[in-house]
Amino acid sequence: MTRDPDCIFCKIIAGDIPSFKVYEDDKSFVFMDINPANEGHALAIPKNHAPDVFNIAEADIAAVANAARLVAGALAEELDLEGLNLVQANGPAAKQSVMHFHIHILPRTMDDSLHLNWPLNPGDKEAIGALAGHIRARLSQA
Ligand code: AMP
Ligand code: ZN
Repeated sequence: MTRDPDCIFCKIIAGDIPSFKVYEDDKSFVFMDINPANEGHALAIPKNHAPDVFNIAEADIAAVANAARLVAGALAEELDLEGLNLVQANGPAAKQSVMHFHIHILPRTMDDSLHLNWPLNPGDKEAIGALAGHIRARLSQA
């Protein structure tokens, strides 16, 4: 297990900081967010320290995504949910505040006022297509 001694989420995994754990396996750990945006807000994290999506191993993100899936299902049953977002922030513009990769498991209600949604404004198809070509090339999918 790789650990950053200064990382608050690594300390939670180690039990040095208390948390409300709801799920754990060999690669992932899920606990309740201490500042819930809605009832049931939880965080799924890898046990190996990785700051963000740009630096996480394939097996770790796969395990964390599956842990989020399992906990989302349990929350949906427990709280009879109207909806749920999986949200994951990377970097300052995305407002990431803890530099240990985490997926927010965020129950939604029809009348909550969370600003997570955006209007559908059609984009410039030429620009979208050109960028898609560059990304395919980087992924060797051209
Ligand atoms: P983000 O802003 O996307 O990086 O999310 C970080 C999340 O971690 C926030 O929702 C915080 O409420 C949550 N958080 C920070 N410290 C703790 C903690 N000790 N226990 C539980 N959740 C925490
Ligand atoms: Zn960490």
